[in-house]
Amino acid sequence: MEKTMNATKHIALIAHDNMKASLVEWCKTHYEELSHHFLCGTGTTASLITQESGLPVKGYLSGPLGGDQQIGAKVAEGGIDMIIFFSDPLTAQPHDPDVKALLRIAQVYNIPIANNLATADFLISSPMFNARYTYIRPDYVRGKS
Ligand code: PGA
Repeated sequence: MEKTMNATKHIALIAHDNMKASLVEWCKTHYEELSHHFLCGTGTTASLITQESGLPVKGYLSGPLGGDQQIGAKVAEGGIDMIIFFSDPLTAQPHDPDVKALLRIAQVYNIPIANNLATADFLISSPMFNARYTYIRPDYVRGKS
């Protein structure tokens, strides 16, 4: 079925420990663009971004304690439009199954997700970032999309 995301989007921000500085820097660089949207994130990432950039970011639990799963549930409910997730490709994570689950659910529900800086730059530069956007959201319950 079709779903339209508003011009003002619900954006989840997540970064693994080695990537947090990079995401904080990206948020500072894009303060103005991000300030027009509703931001949320995993616990530590959210408070760090707020502390360093001044952007309000609603915090869920810390990632390893279930924060990625909370954000995944919100995606499934239709409450998150986009994810910026700077995952660490070089370090094993204790919550790797949760990380994979979040990537999978973002794929299932066809929402934009950036896993690195370049993709995040492309997303935030897109004309769709600040516009309404209609996309296909699968409806597996009724067996069609
Ligand atoms: P954190 O979680 O923001 O609480 O550190 C991120 C993660 O590891 O998924």
